[in-house]
Amino acid sequence: MMSIHLSRMNRVLDIDCDCMTATLEPYADYGQLLAEAAKVGLWNGGTPLATTLCKLSSQAAFAGIWQTSKKYGLLDKNIVNLTLVLPTGEILKTGSSTVAGIKDFWDYGPGPDLLSVIRCSAGTTGIITEITVKLHTWVGGKDLPEPAAGRPSIISYSQPRFDNAPPPSKHRLYWIEFPDYDAEISAFRKVAHSGIGIGLNASGVYSAYYCSPTQKMTEERARTGFFPPWNLYVIIAGITSETQIAYEEKVLREIVAECRGRFLSSEYQSEVLEALSPWNLDCIRNVCGYRMNRRMYAGGCLPAGTPEIAKYHSTLWKETLEKFGETHITDRGGADNTTFLYGIEPAARYALSETDIYPDPVDPHSLEKCAAITIYSAVRNAAERKSTPFSFGGPAEPLVTFFPEQGPNVHLLLRKLRNIFDPQGISSPGRQVLTEEEFKAFPAHSRDGINKMRELFGMKPIKK
Ligand SMILES: Cc1cc2nc3c(=O)[nH]c(=O)nc-3n(C[C@H](O)[C@H](O)[C@H](O)COP(=O)(O)OP(=O)(O)OC[C@H]3O[C@@H](n4cnc5c(N)ncnc54)[C@H](O)[C@@H]3O)c2cc1C
Repeated sequence: MMSIHLSRMNRVLDIDCDCMTATLEPYADYGQLLAEAAKVGLWNGGTPLATTLCKLSSQAAFAGIWQTSKKYGLLDKNIVNLTLVLPTGEILKTGSSTVAGIKDFWDYGPGPDLLSVIRCSAGTTGIITEITVKLHTWVGGKDLPEPAAGRPSIISYSQPRFDNAPPPSKHRLYWIEFPDYDAEISAFRKVAHSGIGIGLNASGVYSAYYCSPTQKMTEERARTGFFPPWNLYVIIAGITSETQIAYEEKVLREIVAECRGRFLSSEYQSEVLEALSPWNLDCIRNVCGYRMNRRMYAGGCLPAGTPEIAKYHSTLWKETLEKFGETHITDRGGADNTTFLYGIEPAARYALSETDIYPDPVDPHSLEKCAAITIYSAVRNAAERKSTPFSFGGPAEPLVTFFPEQGPNVHLLLRKLRNIFDPQGISSPGRQVLTEEEFKAFPAHSRDGINKMRELFGMKPIKK
């Protein structure tokens, strides 16, 4: 096995103010990009919960969901050009700059749309050595507000004064609680349809992780239901005029009143609002996401659909945990309260709902349970909703070859494409799609396990 580390290729190469694009080396991260682009009043449009230390090139290998995807879409919709070293050693460029003398300003080049084959291919088509992304107007100022000592996450660390930061200028974060799921989803739809806001999400159990400097505090907050079970957070930015924030806040207040919601404020649940303050800055430049890894963030369920998907997902999740048992108290996030619901598309045509499992990484029994919960919930989601089993990012085995209903037979197409990009099968083999040989060599007990789940939900077993 060979592993390639790209850490020396970590520069933001170019910010093009005319084309509103940025070109980066593969190890340049979201934090670096925002720092450079903000100097000229631009930014890339979002940051993942996985923190701003993530590289845009690695996120392009999956999907790149941002907290502000409600306005700006996913990273994979913001890519203008990729330069890729193929497993064969050839160098491939995509987009408008493949035409001699033309700059990177448009994601199509002559011929078939190769970028679309590469994005979300989970690193199997080659190594991205350069990525050009779209930029958008940034009004948050050249420097972001920085808490005095950063926000470390060591187990014994708990000094909340270092955990809080105000939002960047011309940005506001609103926390709203609702009396029940229906009210939350109804407000989600109305906010999305109204066109206000750059970010619209429900935080679920994530707040217990992100806003708690210690794991003990996370567990206590999850156990006592410290954060509102039905909630939304809305990010508003004043981009087009001085009065934009005031206007959008007015619209938001009308929707919240119609949906029986209540804003967290200095008069109502001020202690909870204070505890949520790490998001003020994290919604733009995420730092606290790594707190999810204090235990082990190892599996989950990610159905996509209209915002109502969250309700289906919670029922599925609750029944799954009842069947297998949880690995940790925070697995219950999304079972009796809202899932993490991301607005990933402007009018909420689609939303992504997420629940996660946090097993004990040194306990094989806990890890087995995590795998069973992940596969069971994925298969049931695929069977009941006639959808892809796992909606996050690109296709990943074994949920491709074992679900020929997708496409149908998308695995056969992906196998052919893999053969073109990687005829020797050396780049992350078995990740996006199994070759015929890999499928034949797939461990019998794993195949039987997946087939058992398929049959449980009325799907035919997949034969060798
Ligand atoms: C706590 C947590 C929260 C998360 N939240 C989100 C979220 O909100 N939105 C979201 O989209 N994702 C989220 N994720 C998943 C996240 O996208 C990935 O973990 C992220 O891409 C990791 O970034 P990295 O730069 O460390 O990648 P790495 O770990 O370095 O890379 C991940 C994989 O990408 C491929 N890859 C890396 N670099 C390249 C390259 N240059 N060319 C080709 N392939 C490459 C490799 O196959 C590698 O195995 C989350 C993950 C965690 C742990």
